[in-house]
Amino acid sequence: MFKFSLRTERTRVRRQPSRGAYDHKSVYGVLDSALFGHVAFVDGGQPFCIPMLQARVADYVYIHGSSASRTLRALASGVPACLTVTALDGLVLARSAFEHSANYRSAVVLGQFAPVEDEAEQLATFASFTNKLIPGRWEEVRQPNRKELKATAILRMPIAEASAKARSGPPSDDDSDDAALDVWAGVLPIVNSFGSPEPSPGLRDGIALSSSAHRLYAENAVRAVLDRDGGVARSTSP
Ligand SMILES: Cc1cc2nc3c(=O)[nH]c(=O)nc-3n(C[C@H](O)[C@H](O)[C@H](O)COP(=O)(O)OP(=O)(O)OC[C@H]3O[C@@H](n4cnc5c(N)ncnc54)[C@H](O)[C@@H]3O)c2cc1C
Repeated sequence: MFKFSLRTERTRVRRQPSRGAYDHKSVYGVLDSALFGHVAFVDGGQPFCIPMLQARVADYVYIHGSSASRTLRALASGVPACLTVTALDGLVLARSAFEHSANYRSAVVLGQFAPVEDEAEQLATFASFTNKLIPGRWEEVRQPNRKELKATAILRMPIAEASAKARSGPPSDDDSDDAALDVWAGVLPIVNSFGSPEPSPGLRDGIALSSSAHRLYAENAVRAVLDRDGGVARSTSP
């Protein structure tokens, strides 16, 4: 059943509660905006927190990896799990050390993973992972065969108990006594970009950059230009 709120007592944001959100749009927005997250679980009494790619499809979040992986095996057994996804958007520079902060969006999802056994769903998940990395890539490459599917564990967790938390905007000392200090204050945005494509050493001659990679590069490449007068790095599109 579709629940309106993903809030529970365990996911209620207590510190800065006004920054918390529990609606699907907020939580899904964070999950969809980041390629990977950190999956936490306890194995043999020891907590682990392992970085992994993640992809959301409808009301589930999927992870995948080698069938032989300790992490995948432990999670497939249904142990309680926590997935955290974070996007760091900017450095918040205040006049005082104390008021420094970060602009961010993050989500925490609690639950249990279970293996995806259905072959059609496995393939669809592969496609989601591939196209999340680079939109359109799935259609360009050879798709997984039976052996590759067998070697891969795909797990999914329902998104039923979760929270999102976000900070945006300038430092909070514009209205304080510190505003009288001669110290620059503001936000340094953090921008994700791509560098020039590096062909694989074994790439045969005459094979052009795939459209998916070309599109992603052209849309997101950022060149840092040193402004010699101000010594400030600016970003320009190619
Ligand atoms: C951004 C990112 C995305 C990734 N995406 C995936 C994915 O989608 N699927 C996948 O299977 N793997 C992914 N990995 C690799 C993943 O983090 C694990 O290394 C891998 O899943 C094996 O986990 P394991 O517990 O089975 O390894 P094991 O080798 O059994 O782990 C044993 C120990 O090795 C250490 N260790 C394991 N992984 C890491 C690590 N990443 N960094 C530092 N120490 C480590 C830890 O101390 C761990 O307890 C990703 C890694 C990164 C950084």
